[in-house]
Amino acid sequence: MKKRIVVLGATGSIGESTMRVVRSLPEQLEIVGLSGGKNADRLIELAREFPRAMLCAGDEASAVRLKEELGNREVFYGAEGLDLLASLPEADLVLIAIVGTAGLRPALLALESGKDLAVASKEILVMAGEQVMAVAERNGRRVLPVDSEHNAIFQCLEGHDLSTVKRLILTCSGGPFRKTTSASELAEITPDQALRHPTWSMGRKISIDSATLFNKGLEMIEAKWLFGIPMEKIDVIIHPQSIVHSMVEFVDGSILAQLGSTDMALPIQYALTYPKRLPGSCAPLDLTTLGRLDFEPPRRDLFPALDLARRAGMAGGTLPAVLNAANEAAVEAFLSGHLSFPGIWEYVKRAMTQVAFIEHPTLEELIEADREARIFVGDRL
Ligand code: NAD
Ligand code: MG
Repeated sequence: MKKRIVVLGATGSIGESTMRVVRSLPEQLEIVGLSGGKNADRLIELAREFPRAMLCAGDEASAVRLKEELGNREVFYGAEGLDLLASLPEADLVLIAIVGTAGLRPALLALESGKDLAVASKEILVMAGEQVMAVAERNGRRVLPVDSEHNAIFQCLEGHDLSTVKRLILTCSGGPFRKTTSASELAEITPDQALRHPTWSMGRKISIDSATLFNKGLEMIEAKWLFGIPMEKIDVIIHPQSIVHSMVEFVDGSILAQLGSTDMALPIQYALTYPKRLPGSCAPLDLTTLGRLDFEPPRRDLFPALDLARRAGMAGGTLPAVLNAANEAAVEAFLSGHLSFPGIWEYVKRAMTQVAFIEHPTLEELIEADREARIFVGDRL
């Protein structure tokens, strides 16, 4: 039987790779729901390709346009539309690939309505990992990681008892400024330079996060919740080729790694077809042409994002939500020319010390902390 899938954020970078996976496995996977944000044209094309999918547009005006172009197919829109798609009775799995925290409510609704969740949007688990994992457990559903690092760890951990894990080792390309040696060089970086990622082609927000290393910081926190491993056992290693997607070290000294080409179709496919491993659309990896794999320690002095994220992950409560929201607001300010590159982590650091901390927040308190952190950054620009 085909697995029936809803894709939220279908018009983005992860969304497009997901469509490639679905096209390559027509006997296994079926699209039953698609959402897009601002790019209505692309959503119309996808809607034509998948005529049975329920649709959600970014806003009412786009929904009206979609209906006109598609001969009055039913089209939802906005946050309510995302909620509806996430709880579609005919779906087996919901993949969330929306940038930012707009995917949080749909993620919880998908689990509550009995579907497995495939998570690309790391902000969801950073902000509310404890709550999301608890809802998944209560409903007997899985949270399947799409991010390449977590997907690698998920594969390496299979069949192993968590008590035998010594540490998780997240690999990190180092971003476009891996070789930068001075803080004064970092202060001069422009958005165009920061958007040029050396190994992955991705959306704008995550590309900037990869340059500051906040992306890896968010992934550390995400790993803590996904795998139930304490922050102290989560390490980062720089690996410029992005071929080893991450590793697990066990108590006996063995290290298991997952390798693959730098194509998100691979982790997406594994999350969508799990527990099956199938031939797919991904290019094979030839290690002989690659020749070598390099590893080096991260430069924590120049890139404070890793230590800020570790601190947030250890403290828990509202601190990861504040880190995440302040970072999102600061990245937007950097992209629009209102903040310098190092200003991103300076604002995050300030928000983390100055937005009120709650140790055991409710979901509403997390959403409020997210809001306050954005206001904190916005007010000081
Ligand atoms: P993207 O900007 O290319 O696409 C985002 C998608 O979400 C688009 O379809 C957009 O229309 C939609 N969207 C954005 N804001 C929305 C909102 N408020 N409401 C509804 N829809 C909205 O981003 P991406 O690179 O595909 O990344 C998506 C998520 O996956 C991010 O959280 C990112 O951190 C994570 N991720 C991406 C990659 C990658 O290789 N691109 C890898 C790992 C994790
Ligand atoms: Mg990643």
